[in-house]
Amino acid sequence: MSSSINIPDTGAKRIVIVGAGFAGLTLARKLQNKGYQIVLIDKNNFHQFQPLLYQVAMAGLEPSSIAFPLRKAFQKCRDVFIRVTTVEEIDVQKNEITTRLGTLCYDYLVLAIGVTTNFFGNENFASKALSMKSIEEALYLRNLILNDYEKAVTTTDYDDRQSLVDIVIVGGGPTGVEVAGALVEMKNFILPKDFHELDTNEIDIHLIQSGETLLKGMSEEAGKNAEIFLRKMGVKVTLNTRVEDFDGEYVYLKGGEKIQTNKVIWAAGITGNKVKGLPEDVVVRGNRIRTDKINRVIGTENVFAIGDIAIVDDEPAYEYGHPQVAQVAIQQGKLLSKNLPAIINNKPTKDFVYNDKGSMATIGRNKAVVDLPRFKFKGFFAWIVWLVVHLFSIIGVKNKIFVFINWVWGYFSYDQSLRLIIKPAKRLKHREDDAV
Ligand SMILES: Cc1cc2nc3c(=O)[nH]c(=O)nc-3n(C[C@H](O)[C@H](O)[C@H](O)COP(=O)(O)OP(=O)(O)OC[C@H]3O[C@@H](n4cnc5c(N)ncnc54)[C@H](O)[C@@H]3O)c2cc1C
Repeated sequence: MSSSINIPDTGAKRIVIVGAGFAGLTLARKLQNKGYQIVLIDKNNFHQFQPLLYQVAMAGLEPSSIAFPLRKAFQKCRDVFIRVTTVEEIDVQKNEITTRLGTLCYDYLVLAIGVTTNFFGNENFASKALSMKSIEEALYLRNLILNDYEKAVTTTDYDDRQSLVDIVIVGGGPTGVEVAGALVEMKNFILPKDFHELDTNEIDIHLIQSGETLLKGMSEEAGKNAEIFLRKMGVKVTLNTRVEDFDGEYVYLKGGEKIQTNKVIWAAGITGNKVKGLPEDVVVRGNRIRTDKINRVIGTENVFAIGDIAIVDDEPAYEYGHPQVAQVAIQQGKLLSKNLPAIINNKPTKDFVYNDKGSMATIGRNKAVVDLPRFKFKGFFAWIVWLVVHLFSIIGVKNKIFVFINWVWGYFSYDQSLRLIIKPAKRLKHREDDAV
């Protein structure tokens, strides 16, 4: 089989998995050492645990605690080949993908490429607002926030200071709620100690949500409880209001109100990552890729899509697609690891049925909301459940230990020690085109 990215032809069936998020990594781990050649491609050389990105952005966790190097995950496996590059195009007729490093043929292709931020076509938000879909973006956000507090202590003009210290979060889903909670805790517990010259009463954390409750996708009760928690902590929650524009100085809300700030965190929408070459009618709402019930891309024989990027056809219970959460991605990865060998060996396959184990969001110390299929709860116990579930889901024993220590330390000391502003060093002129 042809490859210009130096993958040997071993005679084994080649399964190319694009994306090493929850879906792709689960699939690759389950298929290793089963007699297939697995090529795992990701633009990063690590898997990232997105649910805790906001803690990196808020200086609560080190980036390395929520990332896991791909090569380490497959150290003991000779049939898994990792390539760090971006897949740009698929040729379903030739069974070939084009990456930034070269081309590669496949027997089976699995797209597990996830989603990216959706700014709904607003150029100003796309270029001036901050998003949080990756470790790079989380670190950038952390630097900006810390840098602006540093600038604020030397700024004597009140309006200029407002612009530096106030933060607007757009979108009241789990990410928006968790970021708002973490920022207001930073304001309440950390900034008074770090920046005694700064009047923290001047700092406003705004959370703007277009709908009438927070945490759409969870129960109404969870949304209401999250709102009560946030308001008590000091977040300015605005519901039923759309943001219209942002010029870098003011956020303009529908209805005429404007808020002065130089920082908008955009947590209001996602859209599928794009790869060229798929038939147009399989890429639908939210750029998701239509599949049948075994996650095979409609109209293809040997191309599959799993995780956030996939939308399973004819699912009356999930008319708009399964929720774009880790559990769906993991369960689809696990099922495909059984269905692919079944297809290869002409055995019957199993349809995907989502086992919804519930959802949860944390708002801050001792505060979380949990919706389980049979009952809902909030507060301290919910927070403990949130901590335990997230701790056990992080990949790597070392990561689990480091996160646990950080959390315990932060809980008892009301502090974190990671507030470093680390700026990129100069780039070497002769290596400028090395980005993959
Ligand atoms: C801030 C945040 C908080 C979240 N919190 C929760 C939570 O609390 N609970 C929960 O269940 N879910 C949460 N989610 C959602 C959850 O992370 C996703 O549902 C899950 O990551 C989906 O897994 P995936 O494998 O489909 O995609 P991803 O995990 O996004 O992985 C996609 C991978 O594909 C790679 N990739 C993309 N395009 C290309 C390309 N062209 N070439 C090569 N590689 C490519 C990316 O680098 C990435 O590694 C959160 C998401 C975010 C962003």
